[in-house]
Amino acid sequence: MSQTLYLTEQLLARPSLTPQDAGCQELIAARLQPLGFICETIVSGPDDFRVTNLWAKRPGGGSDAKTLVFAGHTDVVPTGPLNEWHSAPFVPTHRDGKLFARGASDMKTSLAAFVVAIEEFLAITPAPQLNIALLLTSDEEGPAHDGTVVVCKALSARGEKLDYCIVGEPTSVERTGDMIKNGRRGSMSGKLTVKGLQGHIAYPHLAQNPIHLVAPALAELVNMQWDAGNDFFPPTTWQVSNFHAGTGAGNVIPGHAVIDFNFRFCTESTVASLQQRLSAVLDAHQLEYTLDWSVSGLPFLTTPGTLVDAVCQAIRTETGIETQLSTTGGTSDGRFIAQICPQVIELGPPNATIHQINEYVTVADIEPLKNIYKNVLIHLNSQASA
Ligand SMILES: [Zn+2]
Repeated sequence: MSQTLYLTEQLLARPSLTPQDAGCQELIAARLQPLGFICETIVSGPDDFRVTNLWAKRPGGGSDAKTLVFAGHTDVVPTGPLNEWHSAPFVPTHRDGKLFARGASDMKTSLAAFVVAIEEFLAITPAPQLNIALLLTSDEEGPAHDGTVVVCKALSARGEKLDYCIVGEPTSVERTGDMIKNGRRGSMSGKLTVKGLQGHIAYPHLAQNPIHLVAPALAELVNMQWDAGNDFFPPTTWQVSNFHAGTGAGNVIPGHAVIDFNFRFCTESTVASLQQRLSAVLDAHQLEYTLDWSVSGLPFLTTPGTLVDAVCQAIRTETGIETQLSTTGGTSDGRFIAQICPQVIELGPPNATIHQINEYVTVADIEPLKNIYKNVLIHLNSQASA
């Protein structure tokens, strides 16, 4: 049996529902320690939501050596109704060339592939120039307040320098390696409260209808072009998710209207620029309003360079595929790592069944993933010592 498949099954047998790690990181650390990794567990969060994080680093050759980080999460999303699973979600089961279990594609296969790739790389290169690190959390699928973001803060506080990061999120579509993410859009939400004056609907001159007041501004915002996107991102979008106003009575003009909205934004816009432009529209319509903002992720982009080239080359060597660069999908922990690491990409197995009942990974996709990660180590190490 392949080493990667065996370790994948060992991880899948651990029911690590967010924020539980269920011993996954201990198992991984036990494999890394004999290879010269210094393993550090960082526990964070309140008593009823303890998150386990692992930072493991193997120093390479000298103070100016570059650092490659493999990043991911050991936690999985809930199983959903057990009777809809064809085999128990935490009993890894083979059927038709597929390995079924919760976390099979998101993302325990990637974790096993990281570890075995590192083991095989060090077996052929016992004293690499490259520093190799692993950053794992058990809170990626949850609120993500005590996971990767906490480790990144600790690393940055101690002046730890990262150069390249591969996040093991399942990015592929049909076959391992056919798509990688070289960035993600940012996400920012806002709650707009527009003030009016409540009154009798038959006496509108004694009231101020906030729905009528905000409607022209809303029309302008809906038609606004926030930016034109760029080679890697589609244009920034703005969408209203909720609009609440009215008392329920048919004869009352409401006193205020509340509008929830969300920006999915690219690297052509910033938090400040979007907030300013939105406020300018509201001001131009002379609205009386309050705005509450929350930014859940900044956009990041890794333009083609050392890491993207190494990953594309590694995929080509292993599979013959010319991989596609993409920035689609929701946010990921890459958003935190990109704040302290200039080059971040995401690469993992096909994502067709992530978070679904009967999640699986195709067994034939496992070994190539490990080999791609190993090839990236070889490429980056040869550049580090050049
Ligand atoms: Zn994931």
